[in-house]
Amino acid sequence: MRTVAFVGLGNMGSPMAVNLLKAGFKVQVFDRNEQALQLVKEQGASVAKTLTDVVVGADCIITMLPEGRHVRDVYLGDGEGHQGVIELVAPTTLLIDCSTIDPATARHVAQQAKANHLYFVDSPVSGGVAGAQAATLTFIVGGEDHAFKLANPILGAMGKNIFHAGEIGCGQMGKICNNLLLGVLMAGTCEALNLGIENGLDPKVLSNIIMQSSGRNWALELYNPCPGVMDNVPSSNGYQGGFMSKLMLKDLSLGLEAATHSQSSIPMGSLARNLYAFHNQNGNQELDFSSLFEFYRNV
Ligand code: NAD
Repeated sequence: MRTVAFVGLGNMGSPMAVNLLKAGFKVQVFDRNEQALQLVKEQGASVAKTLTDVVVGADCIITMLPEGRHVRDVYLGDGEGHQGVIELVAPTTLLIDCSTIDPATARHVAQQAKANHLYFVDSPVSGGVAGAQAATLTFIVGGEDHAFKLANPILGAMGKNIFHAGEIGCGQMGKICNNLLLGVLMAGTCEALNLGIENGLDPKVLSNIIMQSSGRNWALELYNPCPGVMDNVPSSNGYQGGFMSKLMLKDLSLGLEAATHSQSSIPMGSLARNLYAFHNQNGNQELDFSSLFEFYRNV
């Protein structure tokens, strides 16, 4: 498989597509927002004007879209006369959805794909924009063995760890569990740093202490939410770029949906979800999710 069509060139999709180019794949791209295509165009991707054009000649389609409704539109058609990928591509084409969405949509799209003799995997990622840029993403894949094997060399050009979580939808479920924990850890990290600052501690000193102590976690170590503690993270760049708060709310809401389905108890995840809902209602949807720190600073 050498020609990849990439749909959704946002904060994550752009650096992922650039790594495919670096690995020698021919990459064709489409995003409904033309501005999003600038970076990949400069790096040598061929830019298509429509979804119909981008899939021509591609033996693999990758999507990196915000939510389930965008994934349904792109694969199944938008209900406004535009055909979806499943109708547009040749049999045996490999479809890889890297977006984080509900497992039910992943299963529905996979069923339609199978009926059209296509291979589909749900393959959400972890590692953030930094991981996408460095090609060190973790892929959490759901799908049949054969499709997983086909996807492996392509995912390997964009990531370091590739897990086969189980059947279709299991990739999404693994990712939802991870992000439920991430939301809780980010909220807890913001809370602890703010408590320290308000009681006379320097946030850099406090961060160094916790990094060598039992409260150590990813949000603190690699994504410190307090401005000025760490370079090259969204908190030191006005919370621009990164992983938008509205996407974290979406993921925590997916956790709540799954818990409702399985009748599981998720008090911590529910609380984190409510914190992000409140934070977003205050106009912070487009800011990186570490901006929750400002919620604590402003209380
Ligand atoms: P983003 O909003 O920056 O990018 C999404 C892109 O999809 C946009 O450029 C948008 O124009 C495009 N798009 C939407 N609908 C489209 C359509 N119908 N046709 C073509 N293009 C369309 O989002 P992102 O941060 O890149 O996240 C993408 C997915 O990855 C989300 O599901 C998110 O939860 C997940 N994710 C993000 C991060 C992160 O750190 N940003 C990390 C892991 C997973």
